[in-house]
Amino acid sequence: MLLVNRGVFYGVSMTTSALTSLSGTPVVPGVAAGPVLHVRGEVSPEAIARYGEGDFADADAALAAYDEAVAAVADTFSAKAAAAQGAAAEVLTASAGLARDKGLRSGVAKNLQAGHGPVAAVQGAVDQFVTIFTNMGGLMAERVTDLRDIERRVVAHLVGEPAPGVPTPTEPSILVAEDLAPSDTSGLDPRLVTALVTERGGATSHTAIIARQLGIPCVVGAAGVTQLSSGTFVVVDGEAGTIELGTDPGEARARVEESRRLREELASWSGPASTADGLPVKLLANVADGASAESASAEPVQGVGLFRTELCFLDRKDEPSVQEQAEIYAGVLAPYSDGRHVVVRTLDAGSDKPIAFATHEGEENPALGVRGLRLSFGNPGLMERQLDAIATAAERTGTETWVMAPMVATVAEAADFSAAVRGRGLKAGVMVEIPSAALLAHRMLEVVDFLSIGTNDLTQYAMAADRMATDLAHLTDPWQPAVLQLIAITAHAGTEAGKPVGVCGEAAADPLLATALIGMGITSLSMAARAVRPVGAQLAKVTFETCEAAAEAALGAPDPMAGRAAVRELLGH
Ligand code: PEP
Ligand code: MG
Repeated sequence: MLLVNRGVFYGVSMTTSALTSLSGTPVVPGVAAGPVLHVRGEVSPEAIARYGEGDFADADAALAAYDEAVAAVADTFSAKAAAAQGAAAEVLTASAGLARDKGLRSGVAKNLQAGHGPVAAVQGAVDQFVTIFTNMGGLMAERVTDLRDIERRVVAHLVGEPAPGVPTPTEPSILVAEDLAPSDTSGLDPRLVTALVTERGGATSHTAIIARQLGIPCVVGAAGVTQLSSGTFVVVDGEAGTIELGTDPGEARARVEESRRLREELASWSGPASTADGLPVKLLANVADGASAESASAEPVQGVGLFRTELCFLDRKDEPSVQEQAEIYAGVLAPYSDGRHVVVRTLDAGSDKPIAFATHEGEENPALGVRGLRLSFGNPGLMERQLDAIATAAERTGTETWVMAPMVATVAEAADFSAAVRGRGLKAGVMVEIPSAALLAHRMLEVVDFLSIGTNDLTQYAMAADRMATDLAHLTDPWQPAVLQLIAITAHAGTEAGKPVGVCGEAAADPLLATALIGMGITSLSMAARAVRPVGAQLAKVTFETCEAAAEAALGAPDPMAGRAAVRELLGH
């Protein structure tokens, strides 16, 4: 069994005679062991052949059968959504909507009119949408997995086969798939599915989101994993990113037990954060609206490090008035009026976050187009009104409010933005998401009060790899030494200038990487609220000197996996 990925042995370690381990991008730490359980993928070709073109009087009758199948599939999604919570419920509701999509239905109707059978009509229409979504890139491309899932379910219903998806495990198992759709992962029982491993998918894929929510170890982008036979006993390490074969069951049990004990210890950490030798570190929350700001405020955080304002307006056709915006922002600021601060990011519309009233239509390459701060070049009023609303909310709540702009490329942009923010009596900063901003961090700091590194975009732009591309998870990895070098340059500039430099991308939520970031001179880490305790607990165990050694090890490593291994060894993991 030789597993070759893109012509190299990427991610696969072999002895001469047998495969011993696979590796991928680790996204949720923890160790789990058990037999491989494959997701039931395609509908059986025999069932489709038996069904043929169905037995319908005309295209209208066939369309009625499609409607009935879609209703059943969408109802299943809705029922699962009702039983789920948070992000899982949201993605399932979105899948129900996508299944009922009118555009998809008219594509099917057209194919039926053209004389295709129902199965071919559905497959043809879905193919068309997949091409459109893939060409759009970003978040829309991520939805291709959902579309394919809908296709399989509708076809299964039409031909009378059981719905594809996760078979019910009879013992605690490791779920393995090409990629997982929300419908596969909702309702998973973490006592029976103890880890998720996928061949594709990046750190922001549904698989990763759901695994974080379930709190089970997860590795994505593990080349070759779907080729493992069902029932193969594996040990998954969600921190090292490995899937090991042939481990002694006794040893595996001990490692799982130790990991469980560690996770319980992490959950009991209650802040405030500092290194073992007393260097204070600010741990902050990433929030999207008043509700998430409110719930995060109960966690051991010292404020909000990233309020993504655009997420409040994803479904808005028209720009909300200054008063309405002020009200929304005040809802986010209010829970932190107890002396904590909130960093508000101005609209980061465009690319993977299209906003109807702001985004430019039809850009060839939206990730490199008019997004974030750049939208204000041709529409300065948009930013002026938002800043007015933020200032009003700050005054109304009395919360210390910092404001930063996304997608800043030049010092002149930073200076203009800073003047507009300071003119309203607020602290001004910019995000470091473009390599140019990192390289000129020292000059940026001459004109702003703070910097915040958005590692998701910084990685995308430094590595020229779409952050949503499921095949490029090994490049869109913040442990890439080139990305770490840019972070180190920025952090050093902050230390020299005596001004705060934080990290607010996904990298901040990685307890291992957090030690290296602090060692580089980063002063705050902002992350999803549920990631705060593991990061705080990890930092409490290490001295600043160890953090510096972790930084050096990660920066000097030849690649992300070697960096992780070096830091793990330093920390005694
Ligand atoms: C980032 O790019 O790292 C970031 C925090 O911004 P967003 O993920 O919203 O683009
Ligand atoms: Mg960004």
